[in-house]
Amino acid sequence: MADVTVRFEVDGDVMAPEQLDEQYELAELLDYTEAQIRAQMERQLGDLRCEVHGQPPRVVVTAQYSSDTEQMELAYHVDTCCKPFLLRAVQALNR
Ligand SMILES: [Zn+2]
Repeated sequence: MADVTVRFEVDGDVMAPEQLDEQYELAELLDYTEAQIRAQMERQLGDLRCEVHGQPPRVVVTAQYSSDTEQMELAYHVDTCCKPFLLRAVQALNR
């Protein structure tokens, strides 16, 4: 399974859902978003590993929420053991 990290930024500040004590709806939205991202990564990457090095990809997903527009934008950062596998991992994520 790929190593997936989900980070949240709310209006530009890094924030964990548990920091949002008083903002239940937003905390719930972030929890839900994280579950969605993890399910999607599992579907797209599954047990994908580098054929040469046997390593799974490491993916950092940053979910940026803007309370002005109430929109969530996702940015993906993928790290791999080598370039050929990076291309495969990115292809898998763009399926
Ligand atoms: Zn490799």
